[in-house]
Amino acid sequence: MHPGIEPLLHQLGVADRLAGVTGARHPGIWIEWGGPRRFEAFGGDAGGPWHGSQFWRADFDALLLTRAGETGVEVHQPCAAAGVLMSEGIVEGIETAAGPISARMVVDASGAARWLGRALDVSSPPRSPRLIARYGYGEGSCPAYDDAPSLVGDASGWTWTARVRPRLYQWTRVSFGGPPPSDWVPPHLLGLTPRGRSRGADVTWRMAAKAAGPGWFMVGDAAASLDPTSSHGVLKAVMTGMAAGHLIAAVLRGKAPPEDAGDAYHQWLAGWFSTDAAHLVRFYSELANFADNCVFQDFRGPGGVTPPRPGP
Ligand SMILES: Cc1cc2nc3c(=O)[nH]c(=O)nc-3n(C[C@H](O)[C@H](O)[C@H](O)COP(=O)(O)OP(=O)(O)OC[C@H]3O[C@@H](n4cnc5c(N)ncnc54)[C@H](O)[C@@H]3O)c2cc1C
Repeated sequence: MHPGIEPLLHQLGVADRLAGVTGARHPGIWIEWGGPRRFEAFGGDAGGPWHGSQFWRADFDALLLTRAGETGVEVHQPCAAAGVLMSEGIVEGIETAAGPISARMVVDASGAARWLGRALDVSSPPRSPRLIARYGYGEGSCPAYDDAPSLVGDASGWTWTARVRPRLYQWTRVSFGGPPPSDWVPPHLLGLTPRGRSRGADVTWRMAAKAAGPGWFMVGDAAASLDPTSSHGVLKAVMTGMAAGHLIAAVLRGKAPPEDAGDAYHQWLAGWFSTDAAHLVRFYSELANFADNCVFQDFRGPGGVTPPRPGP
């Protein structure tokens, strides 16, 4: 996690509990990308250098869910959303294995599953070549990665390596020509004991053709996603959730017309996606092979967009 996520987690009321989900902290990242290895610090202020964090995903998810419960959210778990309840073109709830749940507003935060987008037939076309990440964990000692994570680009892809807990390292590999074999381990981590099997994830860039509509919003990866080199998928998931929450509150209080709220949300997200995608295209173009072999769509779009701020 980039340190930029901390003010958001403070707003959500979990900042004082982050130590319990943090396995390691680091002041920046080592980057070797079309040039000599360099250290990119996160920055700092009068209080000292800022630090990024390695959150343990299951613990972080549990912390956010606990916090949601504390604020009055009624949690149904497990409870997969299986279908959409609609009336005259307006989403009015969801169907689940435990029965129907009606709702004045449905928010899809299902990540790459994009269940609502699929159910409503909202397209989310690829905006990059197909990119599959393979990732895994290794236990042992690898001091070269103890001070900070490393991102190394080469002719055929990139590898991320980070210490995520004492004596536990995580790696992610994206190869442009397709994922490495399932038993592949980065050569520099061969001395470690693999923890579990490595896994794959589709990290192709996508943006929903419509991120909100009558009675529904999509947030996080369900709405838009880039590959992990963008390094703020979780920050975006949290920010889109907060923005959608503000807009939904405004709609339900009659302070914002539903159509306008949905349109403003989509425009904000699309602008953000275009700006980040353009930045990533420039970053990738520093790796000559990627630029030569891949065709990107046009990502020029509105830059410098700010989140919508509905009234209280
Ligand atoms: C290898 C890899 C490394 C990454 N590294 C980073 C990183 O360092 N920093 C960073 O910020 N981001 C990183 N990301 C991206 C980050 O993981 C995502 O952007 C982020 O998790 C998106 O959050 P989300 O809540 O939208 O979706 P998810 O975290 O995918 O959560 C979706 C949830 O919805 C549930 N769900 C799915 N379908 C249904 C259904 N029908 N009903 C009910 N629930 C359902 C799923 O079980 C899941 O719990 C990485 C991604 C990958 C693949």
